[in-house]
Amino acid sequence: MSEKDDHIPTPEEIGRKLSEFMRTNFGDAVSFTTMSSPPSPEEGDDDDGMEPRRGGKSEAFRFHHRPRDIKDYLDRYVIKQDEAKKVLSIAVCDHYNHAKYINRIEEEDPAKAREVEFAKQNVIVVGPTGVGKTYLVKHIADLIGVPFVKADATKFSETGYVGGDVDDLIRELVRKADGDVELAQYGIIYIDEIDKLATQGNFIGRDVSGRGVQTTLLKLMEETEVSLRNPMDIQSQMQAMMDMQQGRSASGDTINTRHILFIVSGAFSGLQEIAGKRLRKGAIGFGAEVHDLPMDEELFKHVTTQDFIDYGFEAEFIGRLPVRVVCEQLVPEDFVNIMKHSEGSLLRQYEREFEAFGIRAKFKDSAIEHIAEQAAEENTGARGLMTVCERLLRDFKFELPGSAISELSIDENLIHRREELLEELREKGKEVTDVKVAAEAECFSQEFESQHGVRLMFQPDALKALGELGISQNMSTLQMCRELFRDYQFGLKLIEKNTGRKDFDLPKEAIENPDRFLSDMVVRSYGKSAGDG
Ligand code: ADP
Repeated sequence: MSEKDDHIPTPEEIGRKLSEFMRTNFGDAVSFTTMSSPPSPEEGDDDDGMEPRRGGKSEAFRFHHRPRDIKDYLDRYVIKQDEAKKVLSIAVCDHYNHAKYINRIEEEDPAKAREVEFAKQNVIVVGPTGVGKTYLVKHIADLIGVPFVKADATKFSETGYVGGDVDDLIRELVRKADGDVELAQYGIIYIDEIDKLATQGNFIGRDVSGRGVQTTLLKLMEETEVSLRNPMDIQSQMQAMMDMQQGRSASGDTINTRHILFIVSGAFSGLQEIAGKRLRKGAIGFGAEVHDLPMDEELFKHVTTQDFIDYGFEAEFIGRLPVRVVCEQLVPEDFVNIMKHSEGSLLRQYEREFEAFGIRAKFKDSAIEHIAEQAAEENTGARGLMTVCERLLRDFKFELPGSAISELSIDENLIHRREELLEELREKGKEVTDVKVAAEAECFSQEFESQHGVRLMFQPDALKALGELGISQNMSTLQMCRELFRDYQFGLKLIEKNTGRKDFDLPKEAIENPDRFLSDMVVRSYGKSAGDG
């Protein structure tokens, strides 16, 4: 996080402001629209946080992006992975421009549209965990406004997806598109851990069935019609029967997968060895040992379709995934950049979480560097950032809310003296609380005196009780006094009439049971003359 507070507005914010300005100044006669105004995706959320979007064919056809626009957008959120950004931007543009083209021809001559040959630009993204593969795809879907579904290949079995059927992925797209089947037909399906479907090598529990799943997926990747009703779902089958009985055709309830874009990914550990071995044989200068090398862009340039087949993929399956790119391992410096510069930065999420309790948390550069180093040791890519931050800040998140602490500097001191700092803050929280409670109680006394002409004087034990009650009720002292002593003036006025007293000491009993305390005073006042206690 940069240490200065300047907020640079995002294009979406600028768009919103301009459109407000237009409406205020020119009414509904003039409207303002942007070329692309995707809603900001939910930050730091998990994998499939796409909101369903309404819109029909026209929505998908409004695709007007150029590869460069897409990459620029991705640059705002995703650090590094330039090659992947470029390759994905081009593949996405080709895919949706082709869909646009087909739809144009279809309007003129449906038969001709069916004949158009096109190799779909489905993509394989190779790369270790937590380097931004899902994050890239999610942001692309977000930018272009199509539904996005993420699945895990390890959950597939030959007979279907755990808890359902492979076609559920397609039905899930419809659900994400808020029931808009037209839009769902242009959705993106992202399948992670695809390397676990490889049929050779030492993948435990995954051999023959891997091939079966590849075949099932292959069907989806090619053009097929998927029923919108799950055949295993009794409710939807009953609905289908009722539709048929009432003469409504169920045949229209399908979704075509022709324009759905498939992106698959996996770590593909071992692929570098296969490629390396072949390259060594060909003596292209890869003499070094390659098994411990991470797959990088340089080596990946030499990976061929045959390498994927040797890895354990069916030729037809890998052939349907013609676009291939690698996402590189992230190093501590990248983590620093993610924290400081990505619009979806985790640090902002933490700052917001503290802010919700009225605490201004600020990450200093020294802490950011330390978090980055620690995250690298986790070996889970940028996911490690969350693990490290959680470990570092958990106790502060627990202890500080409700105390009087309103600032937290996340710096070297916090990192190296965590326990001591927690204790210091606890103590400081108490001191600040006492001063604050006394000041607010005094403020209430003055307010009460000016309204009713009698003065309330809180005793030390009453102030302590007020402080404790405030914490347990999550209320300020002032609010609480107004609540506790709401009708006190009537009783006090009576006592004043009986005794002439204008000052009233309030001990802790007055806080614990204000009504009883007042009524006892009133009763006593009848038996006493003016000036007595
Ligand atoms: P994977 O590569 O396993 O799909 P993700 O894309 O799900 O990993 O990354 C997990 C989280 O880590 C993301 O939600 C994002 O917050 C963060 N992240 C990962 N890589 C990057 C990156 N290159 N730039 C910015 N944030 C990243």
